[in-house]
Amino acid sequence: MIMSGHEDSLRKESVEEYLGAIYRLQEMTAAPLPLSRLQILLKVSPISIHEMVQKLEKEALVEYVPYRGVTLTDAGMRVAMALVRRHRIWERFLTDSLNIEWDKAHELAGELEHAAPESVTERLADFLGDPQQCPHGSQIPAGARDGEAAKSLFQSPSQSLDAMAVGQTAYVAFISIEIPENLQFLQSRGIKPGTLVELIGRQVSGCTLKVDGRQVDIPLELASTIWVTGTL
Ligand SMILES: [Zn+2]
Repeated sequence: MIMSGHEDSLRKESVEEYLGAIYRLQEMTAAPLPLSRLQILLKVSPISIHEMVQKLEKEALVEYVPYRGVTLTDAGMRVAMALVRRHRIWERFLTDSLNIEWDKAHELAGELEHAAPESVTERLADFLGDPQQCPHGSQIPAGARDGEAAKSLFQSPSQSLDAMAVGQTAYVAFISIEIPENLQFLQSRGIKPGTLVELIGRQVSGCTLKVDGRQVDIPLELASTIWVTGTL
């Protein structure tokens, strides 16, 4: 293991954080992930990203394709799946059993995913009846139980909201990037997995939806993280 002035970036937590972020950003595509996108999600400097990616590559957890980006190796995928599984199971518990708002649940799960032992999380999954989706609609990966399950995540039939045609009606399937302000915004407008939406207008800056008879404007960046499907 490299020991330098950057011990912070060597912590197990932060390795998991990176792998989990890559997994989340790649959930809809198996293409290499540009480091700039990772940087936006993790809010760290380009230097930190490069250092971490080098370290993860040395440990055979990611593969870096110059000028294109990073992909998870099978070993990296296993770590990421286990982390994301813990995260989403805790989210389910916090929202369903404790009635905590879905943006708060996401933040709390971000701490519990590191603190709670895997065995406890698995008992929680049993207690909850083995949920298949997090409150934001994303698939809960099977984790260490089944390393192959992750590949199927990359072939979801959904399309992003900003790619809908004007006049098209669809159900919200999941929110791919869970940013607390975005989740609060969506909740206040009654948009969650299962909500029926109609695209009634499109501007350079975003989309206009009809939701439950009301008109709702969604900024383009947010619209690109909302995935819809024709059937439930
Ligand atoms: Zn979630």
